[in-house]
Amino acid sequence: MKKIVIAIDGYSSCGKSTTAKLVAAELGYAYIDTGAMYRAVTLYFLQNHVSFTNPKEIREALDNIDITFHYNAKAKRNEVFLNGLSVEDEIRKMYVSNQVSEVSVIVEVRRAMVAQQQKMGRRRGVVMDGRDIGTAVFPDAEVKIFMTADVDTRAKRRQQELLAKKQLVNLEEIKQNLEKRDLIDSTRTESPLRRAEDAFLLDTSHMAIDEQVEFVLNKVTSKLIDREISVQQS
Ligand code: C5P
Repeated sequence: MKKIVIAIDGYSSCGKSTTAKLVAAELGYAYIDTGAMYRAVTLYFLQNHVSFTNPKEIREALDNIDITFHYNAKAKRNEVFLNGLSVEDEIRKMYVSNQVSEVSVIVEVRRAMVAQQQKMGRRRGVVMDGRDIGTAVFPDAEVKIFMTADVDTRAKRRQQELLAKKQLVNLEEIKQNLEKRDLIDSTRTESPLRRAEDAFLLDTSHMAIDEQVEFVLNKVTSKLIDREISVQQS
């Protein structure tokens, strides 16, 4: 069966990556966490004191940034690598979360990341999650999902995720970070966060992970069946 692209966009901490990972595993597709790429760029900018407003410094930095994904068999997870080093844990820390949306508005950064994401998905067979996948990276994705959830639920989930990594962060601080990122992400000029017209809305406020996965897989199955029927008819 021909492989497709599944785009999962939405607000911060709605469960996009958990859902996307499980959907990818179920289908035998690759999973690409585009948020991790913006976080890795942010980490590089912070470590190397790159000014967010100096286009020359930004271009030079982007030329020196190599982002890849590798499976860590010991930790049983896919990890993002920045110039050959795993930064999977570092990029989830609050000091990166507090700056990532400022870096993500930079046009040069977006163009470089979008180009790389399009390359990664050119053979299809990918589940990609982010903010602009269904609108800018793969506007032709066969299945598009737009996830949302109320902010208190999202903040509590994020707090639990951080706790699991032994990071104790105040709930209010997390909530403020989510609201700030959502605002910057949805009001920027270059590929803002918005629901593509043909995206299915998925509100996860009262949903368990397996229900979210089932929702996406049902949309995928319907799409694949429709395609098979139209191939047979043509
Ligand atoms: O998905 P995650 O919360 O890790 O994303 C971190 C940040 O990266 C988002 O708040 C947003 O600013 C940026 N991002 C983006 N476009 C994407 C994915 C993430 O601008 N496709």
